[in-house]
Amino acid sequence: MSAPSSEPEIVEPGPEDVLALADLIRNANRILALTGAGISTESGIPDYRGPNGVWATGKPPTIGDFMENEAHRRTYWQRRLESYPDLLAARPNPAHRALVDLERAGKLAAVVTQNIDGLHQRAGSDPQRVIELHGSAHVVRCTDCGALFDGEEVQEWLRAGHLYPSCPVCGGILRTATVLFGESLPREALDRSVELTRDADLLLVIGSSLVVNPAAQLPLIAKRNGAPVAILNRTGTRQDHLADLRLIGSAGVVLPQAVFHALGDPLGS
Ligand code: NAD
Ligand code: ZN
Repeated sequence: MSAPSSEPEIVEPGPEDVLALADLIRNANRILALTGAGISTESGIPDYRGPNGVWATGKPPTIGDFMENEAHRRTYWQRRLESYPDLLAARPNPAHRALVDLERAGKLAAVVTQNIDGLHQRAGSDPQRVIELHGSAHVVRCTDCGALFDGEEVQEWLRAGHLYPSCPVCGGILRTATVLFGESLPREALDRSVELTRDADLLLVIGSSLVVNPAAQLPLIAKRNGAPVAILNRTGTRQDHLADLRLIGSAGVVLPQAVFHALGDPLGS
């Protein structure tokens, strides 16, 4: 299967929908943003499941494949050598920055992200308030001794011809500090996300298809605790039926407008 050759036309929501989102934001003080790959596509990082995603071609290995099969690990590092420069070059877009504005206005409790690109922190979000459910692509970890290495440092090793790097401390198998398929999520990040969702007075979902747990469960937890749920995504999501407000549109276009109206128009006129 290959990606569609022409991009589907992107239709943005009308002003009424944007103002409805601004209203929800204005009335909230403990917003939890849940972000997925869709918030970073406008920074040039493709998603997997969107209409032009690479789900069919670029699937990462499962944890079983990775640990048991050296050939899979070699392919993994080869892909990393080729793809990491693009990730390093990616810059935050207006959607990431709109969340920073919300945080600085004292309205955003935290960002729970499924992304591994580090763009929330690069945009200026307080790293303490960014919960990376799927880990970070900028950290490499030894599966034996747990030593951590900076992504750029490991990239240097790959570039220097060490195409199958092992841990310089103990010789163990290295991997990026991201969650592979078939692997459980970091317990602490998971618990904190659920806690923050219970405490939120608005759950704002941006660029996630809400297919994979635990992200898919957070809207239900928010609803049970009486918080409204707003979903901004280019396509429908698995949890649209739970949304109080559902906007089909681009994160980098819609979110900055809504945040501007919510913060820049305190009288609500
Ligand atoms: P996903 O299932 O959450 O899909 C992303 C969603 O975003 C899609 O529904 C798509 O229609 C929507 N979208 C795309 N561009 C958008 C935009 N500009 N504005 C609003 N919505 C937009 O996630 P996935 O792509 O299937 O990725 C699966 C997992 O792989 C992720 O959870 C993540 O761990 C990893 N991944 C990370 C990155 C990243 O760090 N940037 C990118 C791709 C995949
Ligand atoms: Zn080691």
